[in-house]
Amino acid sequence: MTIIFKGQEFKYEVENVCKLFFPLTHFQFRYDGEKDAELPEGDFLLTRLKKGKKTTFLLAVFYWQGRCYLGRRKLSNNTVPYQKEAERILSIAVFDALKKATGIEVKWGVMTGIRPVKQMHYWLAQGNTPEQVRAIFQNDFLVAPQKIELCEKTLKNQREIIAASGKNSYSLYVSIPFCPTRCSYCSFVSSSINTPKARALLKEYVPKLCEELKVLAQIARERNLKLETVYIGGGTPTTLSAQQLELLTDCIAIEFPMDEVREYTVEAGRADTITEEKLRVLRKAGVERISINPQSFNDRVLQAIGRKHTAQDVIDCYHMAQKIGFDAINMDLIAGLPEDDLSSFQRTLETAAKLSPENITVHTLTIKRSSDLFRTSDRKTVEEQVPDMVGYAGEKLSQWGYEPYYLYRQKNTLQNLENVGYAKAGKECWYNVYIMEEIHTILAAGAGGVSKLIHPASPKVNRIFNFKYPFEYLSGFEEILKRKEEIGSFYQAYQNRIL
Ligand code: SF4
Repeated sequence: MTIIFKGQEFKYEVENVCKLFFPLTHFQFRYDGEKDAELPEGDFLLTRLKKGKKTTFLLAVFYWQGRCYLGRRKLSNNTVPYQKEAERILSIAVFDALKKATGIEVKWGVMTGIRPVKQMHYWLAQGNTPEQVRAIFQNDFLVAPQKIELCEKTLKNQREIIAASGKNSYSLYVSIPFCPTRCSYCSFVSSSINTPKARALLKEYVPKLCEELKVLAQIARERNLKLETVYIGGGTPTTLSAQQLELLTDCIAIEFPMDEVREYTVEAGRADTITEEKLRVLRKAGVERISINPQSFNDRVLQAIGRKHTAQDVIDCYHMAQKIGFDAINMDLIAGLPEDDLSSFQRTLETAAKLSPENITVHTLTIKRSSDLFRTSDRKTVEEQVPDMVGYAGEKLSQWGYEPYYLYRQKNTLQNLENVGYAKAGKECWYNVYIMEEIHTILAAGAGGVSKLIHPASPKVNRIFNFKYPFEYLSGFEEILKRKEEIGSFYQAYQNRIL
């Protein structure tokens, strides 16, 4: 499909809105002044900004399947900031035209960013009342009332957690991008360890990771930073053997002031990696929170996504973890998996709630790899039921005593829906709030880790990227350590400004 730009080049926003309605479509772009003056054959979207004396006219003309649909909006020329507003209003015109054509309800409207709650925090901090913020969501971004309510509840449940973060606070993220095998829906960079070569890589990886942790700890000490939470994520961290987990947790215990830390989490993840020995190593190291992620309690679904364990294996792991005495267990579920449907998803949710974990996180499937994923079932049939699955989860979980406390959006989720973490009161995972709302610095170690440098006095978020893949991480290790020098400069610059 071709998108034509006239009088403007708001490619980023216009393309994002088009992807909401046509997620897997490849777009071509044509701009003013390019040679090809003819309109393209087939489907196209023409977007136009025309500035009059006092008013700017923003127009979207969508030719689709032989019919034409229009979206038209206006903007005063005195609007400040003009460019940004013109871009937003043009997005709405495009949204109007595409909605008329397809009939698709996009519950998040033209709010395409991944952190709607952060946006809500921001507008409140700018002095808007909750009613004014609600009106911005609804009128300026066309967000549906139930999504606004979800953001409001989430924000309310984050307040205490955010208030506890100080100006020198930081959290530590440790990346284990390995899994026993690859799930068919996976969109992460994670290496499966089902070959001897991959297992050898993992063996080399853990000691290097410890070296990087040592460097990060040193920087944090020098800058007088206060460690709030530690999160070991993946991949599947319990892909590591009990001995490797011990090596890693011992290193963390030696290098970081773990007795002062509020929260220590390991995303154990898959039942086929969890053993009693590994859980005992984690518990002994002071880990209080783990994830055991069923994704679904339907064995047919688990088979379709390439899991080598059954729903009963997850339940057994859960009971084992409870017996060992973790303070909080999270379970991730996914709405929209192949072979699933509304009633099966409802049974999954009910099974999870009966087990009564402290946290349940409901994800919406991303459709990057849908062609592989949906070989055995019809994506459309599952996709149509996803809003009901997500809606059912929100309604029931709140009846069962779970409240939303963090939410984020990803590109290409089925029906553009969100991922929401629910928790029983007082059992929220603080790290999730800090990372999602970008409250304080996250120092990240390991392949794929992205450190985010944040200071309350600075609106900037500086990112330091580690190499993505374990083999690059190992071969480019010196470069990774070098990049960490930026952490010192960031805090130095901040201190200089204060002084
Ligand atoms: S467990 Fe998670 S990270 Fe690992 S392959 Fe499956 S989806 Fe990807």
